[in-house]
Amino acid sequence: MNWSNLNKSMLVLFLGGIDHILWIAWYLGCSLTPSLQHWLNPDYFKFHVTRMSICCILSFLLIWPCHYYRHNVYAQTYLPYISIIFFSLTFIYGGYTIGISSPATIAGYISLVTVGLVLFERKIIYIIFIPITIYLLIAIVLSMLGKMTYAPVYSEEVNRSILIHNEFWVYSQLYLYIPIFFAGLVLFEVLLTQWRNREKQINEISQIDPLTGIYNRRKIASNLSQIQQDQQSYALVLLDLDHFKKINDSYGHDVGDQVLKKVAKILSANLRGEDVVGRFGGEEFILVLKNKSLKQAMDIAERCRLEIEKEPIYINKSTMIHASASFGVALSKLSLSKEVIIRQADQALYQAKDSGRNQVKPYLDSI
Ligand code: GH3
Ligand code: MG
Ligand code: MG
Repeated sequence: MNWSNLNKSMLVLFLGGIDHILWIAWYLGCSLTPSLQHWLNPDYFKFHVTRMSICCILSFLLIWPCHYYRHNVYAQTYLPYISIIFFSLTFIYGGYTIGISSPATIAGYISLVTVGLVLFERKIIYIIFIPITIYLLIAIVLSMLGKMTYAPVYSEEVNRSILIHNEFWVYSQLYLYIPIFFAGLVLFEVLLTQWRNREKQINEISQIDPLTGIYNRRKIASNLSQIQQDQQSYALVLLDLDHFKKINDSYGHDVGDQVLKKVAKILSANLRGEDVVGRFGGEEFILVLKNKSLKQAMDIAERCRLEIEKEPIYINKSTMIHASASFGVALSKLSLSKEVIIRQADQALYQAKDSGRNQVKPYLDSI
């Protein structure tokens, strides 16, 4: 889920629109409930409902150009700015109406800036974040000096009361903040999912060979280090395809790739439990067989050799070839490093090649 700025903007606008619906519902609910009416400023009603409704409708309407022009370069560049600026202005307007330094405004401001900064490029957020912060600070001071109306949506009775003892004020602040909190949470989830997916992808790229889908050399090396750290014994099988260059030269690189994929599949299918297979180099593979005797490892290698040998590789519908591989097997020793064991398996593999290929040979000291 790699969201573009436009997609993220659409989500912000949608959540902004939903927030407005909830705010309007709160305002209308309180205004129409006789026991609550005295907490609200009646002179502000028409003006506020109209403005909030316009903001709400515009929030949803702005989604349309974001979607319709999503392939347009100008739209991709400028619409995220317009959307974020619009969303922030409606937020700060809402904040002003319920009190510029009220908990809902300040908590909402912090949540949105934090989420905004991680969700969008810095540039987009700074362009709106800096002017809004300046406005917020000036408005707080002007409200304190009485030069700006504070929380015009509430009646004088609320604004003159000790706010934290005023049940209506406390509950309305909670109600007004909760949608922002959830909007922030949704946006943050989008971002976290994106991060986790990217991390998973990077992890996979760093461990998996893209052609065959089995572990790469780096992952095998780290597996071996772990096994040695746990002081477990293992058998190492190195195999190299025979005359592979000839296959490439005669039938093309694509057929060569097809052989590599088939061999990887055969090797994977022949392993059990904790054993692992990896691509060690171009046409070389490695098997790490935990807690196996030399005989067991030789048997597994022989089984793989036979299966590779008999597996048909189709060049076209009527022609097929067979590949083969040579195997070298070595057993681990606690006193020896993994590099030494690999070298021993390589020597055994060299012997298999030297003795005519398509066979399994153990490292002599392992016998
Ligand atoms: P030997 O039996 O002695 O191992 O002979 P060989 O021809 O297999 O050995 P050589 O090392 O001369 O050739 C290996 C070839 O593997 C050369 C290289 O082009 C090919 N190769 C390496 N990686 C890939 C790959 O990813 N795809 C394909 N198609 N070929 C590859
Ligand atoms: Mg080779
Ligand atoms: Mg080879």
